[in-house]
Amino acid sequence: MLPFYKPSYDPDTVKALDEVLQSGWLTTGARTKEFEKQLTAYCGNKNTICVSAATTGLELMLRWFGVGDGDEVILPAYTYSATANVIIHCGAKPVFVDSGPDFNLSMKEVEKAITSATKVIMPVDFAGLPCDYDSLNELVARDDLVAMWESKNEIQEHLGRILILSDSAHSFGGTYKGKTVGSLTDISVFSFHAVKNLTTGEGGAIALNLNSKFDNKAIYNSLNTNSLHGQTKDALAKTKNGEWRYDVVNAGYKCNMTDIQAAIGLVELAKYEKHTLVKRKAIFDYYTKAFEKLEWAEVPEYSSEYRTSSCHIYPLRIRGIEEMQRDLIIERIFSRKVAVNVHFQLVPMMSFYKGLGYTPESYPVAFDNYTREITLPVYTDLSESDMDKVIAAVTESVLEELVVNA
Ligand SMILES: *Cc1c(COP(=O)(O)O)cnc(C)c1O
Repeated sequence: MLPFYKPSYDPDTVKALDEVLQSGWLTTGARTKEFEKQLTAYCGNKNTICVSAATTGLELMLRWFGVGDGDEVILPAYTYSATANVIIHCGAKPVFVDSGPDFNLSMKEVEKAITSATKVIMPVDFAGLPCDYDSLNELVARDDLVAMWESKNEIQEHLGRILILSDSAHSFGGTYKGKTVGSLTDISVFSFHAVKNLTTGEGGAIALNLNSKFDNKAIYNSLNTNSLHGQTKDALAKTKNGEWRYDVVNAGYKCNMTDIQAAIGLVELAKYEKHTLVKRKAIFDYYTKAFEKLEWAEVPEYSSEYRTSSCHIYPLRIRGIEEMQRDLIIERIFSRKVAVNVHFQLVPMMSFYKGLGYTPESYPVAFDNYTREITLPVYTDLSESDMDKVIAAVTESVLEELVVNA
């Protein structure tokens, strides 16, 4: 079976892990700080803080902004449930919106969904393709929306408008009008989960890029405290002579990144631009070249004049099929010893969210995208013959299914 995903093995990672294990320091320390510095340099944002996952990073930022009871947060229905779960954790209401043809949230639908209770918009750069950030940034700054803004705390007062908190779990390294994801809007959160483009096993980072009214370094410091029990000193600071005494200034969370994770991340980052992204783009090019000439295949956008994807996942759509046919095609692909996947089942399709009264039919474009979508394997060790096998398995399976249904 050709697996859907396989992490790459790199001897440099083993060396880095050996070093960190021998260093006598495993949790948050010098390596995490170095990783944060290099991430900031790569993305071109103001400050970056590493955390245990994208999920904890997103929640930390919703709580930083004081999102809670009675507040609404806009997000696409077409995302992983983590984006919505953190809104629930904070006691706020997820307001799902439909997608556009590029899978990302539809700007028209975002505009329609805004109310006086809207505190945050959480765009998701699906498959690694950055959303239309110029439109999003302009929308939240629009006079009528700013006039409608009601702040509940000092931070909200200071921003004076809806916050954009991007779920950039897929899009590390993506670009939009010459800028890199992380520097495109207020705050972007990356995931370094095992299947993501750049991995630390589990992990994430918050890229702060708030406007000059904010002291991003001071926010970084407060997030450091809040990701470590509300403690005024981290473990490393406490090791110094005379520094054992610390204070707890709030009931903080525990979602810091370890130096073990950062050591892996530093190796991954060093080869990211010149190796990882190049390889992933080559895989996308190979698939697209094979599929774009076939009538039934709808290939994804991943590279245009103004934006490039990080090529995280390859979402192929089959034209004119229904959900049930897609499922049968996937069975046929698996029987040809190729593993594929579906991204995503809409969050409103999940039992918990259905129980809250959401229905997938309310998001017709996203639902149509879902019913016709098959995600193909993309990972750096994928060879040309692997890709040929994927292309043959998909093509034969689709044609077989279309004949059965003709
Ligand atoms: C992977 C993913 C997340 C969660 O990332 P973690 O680091 O596992 O918390 C959130 N949103 C999207 C769109 C994802 O794909």
